[in-house]
Amino acid sequence: MIYFDNAATTFPKPEKVYEKILYTMKNIGANPGRGSHKMAINLAEEILSTRIKIAKMINCDDEMNIVFTSGATESLNLALKGLLNEGDHVITTASEHNSVLRPLKALNLKGVSITVVPIDLKGRVSLVDIEKEIKRNTKLVVINHVSNVLGTIQDINSIGELCRRKEIIFLVDVCQSLGLLPIDIKKDNIDLLAFSGHKLLYGPQGIGGIYINPNICLKPLKEGGTGSYSNSMVQPEVIPDKFESGTLNCPGILGLGAGIDFINEIGINVIREKELNLCKLLLKELKKLPFIILYGIDNNLYRTGVVSFNIEGMDSSLTGNLLDNENIAVRTGYHCAPLIHSFIGTINKGTVRVSLGYFNEEEHIEVFIKALKKIYKNI
Ligand code: PMP
Repeated sequence: MIYFDNAATTFPKPEKVYEKILYTMKNIGANPGRGSHKMAINLAEEILSTRIKIAKMINCDDEMNIVFTSGATESLNLALKGLLNEGDHVITTASEHNSVLRPLKALNLKGVSITVVPIDLKGRVSLVDIEKEIKRNTKLVVINHVSNVLGTIQDINSIGELCRRKEIIFLVDVCQSLGLLPIDIKKDNIDLLAFSGHKLLYGPQGIGGIYINPNICLKPLKEGGTGSYSNSMVQPEVIPDKFESGTLNCPGILGLGAGIDFINEIGINVIREKELNLCKLLLKELKKLPFIILYGIDNNLYRTGVVSFNIEGMDSSLTGNLLDNENIAVRTGYHCAPLIHSFIGTINKGTVRVSLGYFNEEEHIEVFIKALKKIYKNI
């Protein structure tokens, strides 16, 4: 099977990730922060070490500002619902995933007003359009760093600078970039950074997190046991405990730590370069096929290896099924991003999405191109 669905979740994971998860469950499967015995203490230290690895990756000085969640969806819900109240205004973009748009829609019904800034054909958002929409009550700008449909990279540095200047909180969804592109919360003025563990960080599913600027007051999504201040019925205010009620996903967190070790050993620039080279080859070969409609940006500096296309006259899901028959795994349809399609002309058909990962090779692209030719010939 050729796996081209890495934007959904990376596969395979590095061997050390599988090993670490098994090791955690078999050898230190206690409840961290809940026991005074060696196993619980050992596991708590390992969890801290993963927090440190994430903090380093985003240039955060205090690892306690990294909160673990079940994934980016929970992180984004925590940020949006924890921050926004009736009367607040938020600016977002047409390129967002439903993990931003749906919580915002729910908040809209509770009196939060929302402005969705358009994107151009290449998936880019204009800084001028964002600035134009800022109102007296604008509390937040939320945007994804990289589109999960087109792979377009947004200029988060300029948007972050604008937010800082206007004293607006800046939330970035880095699901499709953390682990592939350098991210610096200080340089980019990011206050809240939602990430997924199972995509470019090569961890398992069910783990993710959020960086929270300690100056921002968020309501927790849930209350409960934290292993700290246990003689009180009141939820602790200290971070990360405030947001981490209940037993943590320890195998997931340690697996994520092993995924980050893998990235650090290879080097984020090496990973990015490999993906870019594969992406260049893929785009070059796709452009040679006259029956392919490609979407998104051409300039490799402003894109990642998430590539959307359609075969002329063919429904995206049929293309996906026929590729599956050839043992090639892609994603088809709307990719949980409902607004982007009216901007790129795919409103009733969606797209076929190839998303490359570190474990893809040039031969995979050759086989894929042959499969597309065969599919088109047999229409
Ligand atoms: N945002 C983007 C841009 C995504 O691609 C995804 C996953 N498809 C999410 C958020 C949700 O991530 P998770 O699966 O970790 O909840």
